[in-house]
Amino acid sequence: MHVLIVGAGLMGTTTAWYLGRHGVEVTVVDRAEAAAMETSFANAGMLTPSMADPWNAPGTLSRLIRWLGREDAPMLLRPHAIPSLAGWGLKFLVNARESTFRRNTLKNVTLANYSLDLLRDLGTELELSYDHTAGGTLRACRDQASLDHAASLAEFLAPRGVEFRVLDRQGVVATEPALGPVSGKIIGGVHYPGDESGDAHMLCRSLSRVARQQGVRFRFGTVVTGLRLEAGRIAAVETGAGPIEADVFVLAAGSFTPLLGRPLGLKIPVRPVKGYSITAPRGDWPEGPRIPVADDHLHAAVTPLGGRIRVAGTAEFTGYDDTVTPSRIANLMGLLERIYPEYAARMDRNAIEPWCGFRPVCVDGVPILGETPVADNLYLNTGQGHLGWTMAAGSGKAVADLICGQVPAIPIIDYRIDRF
Ligand SMILES: Cc1cc2nc3c(=O)[nH]c(=O)nc-3n(C[C@H](O)[C@H](O)[C@H](O)COP(=O)(O)OP(=O)(O)OC[C@H]3O[C@@H](n4cnc5c(N)ncnc54)[C@H](O)[C@@H]3O)c2cc1C
Repeated sequence: MHVLIVGAGLMGTTTAWYLGRHGVEVTVVDRAEAAAMETSFANAGMLTPSMADPWNAPGTLSRLIRWLGREDAPMLLRPHAIPSLAGWGLKFLVNARESTFRRNTLKNVTLANYSLDLLRDLGTELELSYDHTAGGTLRACRDQASLDHAASLAEFLAPRGVEFRVLDRQGVVATEPALGPVSGKIIGGVHYPGDESGDAHMLCRSLSRVARQQGVRFRFGTVVTGLRLEAGRIAAVETGAGPIEADVFVLAAGSFTPLLGRPLGLKIPVRPVKGYSITAPRGDWPEGPRIPVADDHLHAAVTPLGGRIRVAGTAEFTGYDDTVTPSRIANLMGLLERIYPEYAARMDRNAIEPWCGFRPVCVDGVPILGETPVADNLYLNTGQGHLGWTMAAGSGKAVADLICGQVPAIPIIDYRIDRF
């Protein structure tokens, strides 16, 4: 069996690896010149079953309206993107109902826990280096309402194995001493000892290298322009370099997956939600952060990645506009100044690497994994949204298992496209 995967981001690379493990012939096709050059390039780096809640939480509509037109808003809706969001946006809001949101959160935490276990095993077994830390993550809260919200979500997830400790101000600083200078602004927080962090790009690069050594083929610099459907099966992908045939096809093209499905009549309810990050050398900062800190009020996360510090955040509905907007980068700098002011004051600003990427957000906040109704040899691995790093290994293994006729370890019915 020859499986062709479109996309060499987190989803494509992990799927390829696990398929290779099953002894299958695999080709990965990507338009970029290397693995993980798009959304998997510079995300916040957090591996967080603790953040399994979809972004369309109850109250999303009122928050979106409140933030309309505010350039520093954590979630920003650009007017030009509204037509492309019409039907999807309505369903996004419908999924914000309390009962639906809770059910979807549980689906996510199941996949996230499974995935993190697999990633740990992969890292150890293959000796992958990806600036990994395992000291947990910390949610810092600046007001009682956000602390109460974080604590109640943590209690909801605890029966699913997400450990947590609710902390007062002193507890926050004891857990992450680098927050000492802003402790007066923080009223408390939640520490999730089971969370981890690491660089997704480094992981993809190392994993694709090992996969290639074990026989997986990567065809970089190759744009897939369409899929050829013949008698209920996909026969080939069309590329600028001619068609490539295979027995089975997996679409793992992140936010671009719906564009590949559409000509086949396959409606994939995933839309791009743009996010930004800045990465800078840690420099001489011995007292710098040990673990990622998500600041609930500021909607930003700061993650130490080896010798670097990464600040990530913001969600922008702006279609596929990949401009690195200066005001959003300035916004991230402003957030850094409020979380680690001393570092922001002395960091090397010339060395800052700004970046943006499109989170592939599914309308119900849960990924889409498995078979499609349009062709019996076409599979999907997309829609992981803000949790794609956390869910990558589990998503890849589940799809690889399905293709190879094995029952995945997670209840795949929760993630299939026919739930819509
Ligand atoms: C600012 C930000 C912060 C984030 N932080 C976190 C975090 O802390 N933790 C977490 O779990 N997740 C996080 N995420 C989410 C995570 O990064 C994504 O969910 C994940 O990277 C998506 O991976 P993917 O493989 O689906 O997509 P991608 O990485 O985008 O890969 C898709 C690949 O498909 C290729 N492709 C697309 N179309 C074509 C075509 N027509 N022909 C050929 N190739 C094609 C692209 O080149 C690309 O390489 C964050 C995302 C952002 C934007």
